[in-house]
Amino acid sequence: MKASKRKNENNKKLYDISMMDLDDASYEKSRKGQGKRKQVAGKSNNREFAVITYFFLALFICMAGYFIYFITVRSEDFINNSYNARLSTLSNYVTRGRILSADGEVLAQSFTLEDGTEIREYPYGATFAHAVGYSVNGMAGVELDGNFNLLRSNSFILERVIKEIKGEKNQGDDVVTTLDVPLQQAAYQGMGQYNGAVIALEPSTGKVLAMVSKPDYDPNTVAADWDQLISGDSTALLNRATQGLYPPGSTFKIVTALSYLEQNENYGSYTFDCSGSYEVSGYEIHCYHNKAHGQENLLQAFGNSCNNAFANVGLLLNPKKYISLTDQLLFNQPLPTKLSNVKSSSFTLTENSSSAEIMQTAIGQGNTLVTPLHMAMIAGAVANGGELMEPYMIDHSQNDQQEVVKQFYPESYGTIMSSDEAAVMEEFMRYVVTDGTASALNTDRYTVYGKTGTAEYNSNKNDNHSWFVGYARDAYGKEIAIAIIMEGAGSGSSHAVPLAKKCLEAYYR
Ligand SMILES: [Zn+2]
Repeated sequence: MKASKRKNENNKKLYDISMMDLDDASYEKSRKGQGKRKQVAGKSNNREFAVITYFFLALFICMAGYFIYFITVRSEDFINNSYNARLSTLSNYVTRGRILSADGEVLAQSFTLEDGTEIREYPYGATFAHAVGYSVNGMAGVELDGNFNLLRSNSFILERVIKEIKGEKNQGDDVVTTLDVPLQQAAYQGMGQYNGAVIALEPSTGKVLAMVSKPDYDPNTVAADWDQLISGDSTALLNRATQGLYPPGSTFKIVTALSYLEQNENYGSYTFDCSGSYEVSGYEIHCYHNKAHGQENLLQAFGNSCNNAFANVGLLLNPKKYISLTDQLLFNQPLPTKLSNVKSSSFTLTENSSSAEIMQTAIGQGNTLVTPLHMAMIAGAVANGGELMEPYMIDHSQNDQQEVVKQFYPESYGTIMSSDEAAVMEEFMRYVVTDGTASALNTDRYTVYGKTGTAEYNSNKNDNHSWFVGYARDAYGKEIAIAIIMEGAGSGSSHAVPLAKKCLEAYYR
């Protein structure tokens, strides 16, 4: 009781002292009237100094901490801005480092001519165009995302000092990517003259194994070709793997089926009798080539890619939960990835949507638009037991002695579906290969899981994008998730599946 009273008095004193700066005179006055408490005031004076000292010490530590954090972590974001003027200054002292594939093949390197001009060379030409990008005019691809690392030199310190004195440029660090050369070549060549994209990821890490987009460009001549590349009709600079927004077609049945699994524990008892067409409230859906699939359960409907059954499934879903699942699968939001220039997929169904809209949406038509990257991420999460790894393309940077300077590690986004749902979806996607529309991918060498898609566009039923979305695993656990779209090529089985085959053969070489 007594102690607490004393404390109150001290607090009053502290308050009085804190008023000192504001009103010295009134402080003097109060001191005179409180001679007895002088001792107490002296003690609290010391305490006051201690408090102030600790306060400023803490403030200093916080500021120093933030400063170190800024220098080591955040500064990269600022320096790596492609429009940062400091970078061009940096490139006066450092020869831009090389960009390498996962196994050390040179994808980009710089030469300095006798007159001091630096030439950037891309030995594989257009094959790696959108993945590796270009280092001029705002930059793109790894050239953009790894810019900071490419313009930093961590060669031997003595060598750097000597070169500095001589006025010579130091060698910038190499950026080693996660890209697989034979896989990239197979994807690029297999795309042929079609426009479209191929994106391949390692499900357990998120490493980008291949990224192809067509039409393409030659990164060796980007500066010279620039005016033509940015002229009205050209979309060659657009990276369709990360920025192309396409109707998903039947590949979206993965999402619709997942929603049905989530909402119906007894999904195994679902049946539908497909007669080739299905009409509800005056809106009619047709199966591909009006084929009648007959009596099917959900697995068979998925394997046959039956539009009528899936339009029916769509109508059976609770719309609120269907929308909430697409949210969980990252529609209408930025995708978690270190890659630049990535667009968000869109899903526009609402609780008030008409049955016609629901039927269309459930089979991947309607207003839904997806990027190939997003579809590969969903397939990768199924392969990975529901856990999504964030896609990245730079594995590490290294100095000219091949010593690692900065290592980038896989990052998990978390689970986007339960492991049970992923296991059932794996069974469904496997059935597509053993008994369904992707049977051309069935082989003993590795096991393929997937979903084909034939996405109508231009409201002309003969204009179709050819899709394949899936993954594969071999006996050693080596995995790959892949999304392929070939614009206007026809059905998924006729074009995207054979291209998937070429890619998988190259990957499991
Ligand atoms: Zn059908």
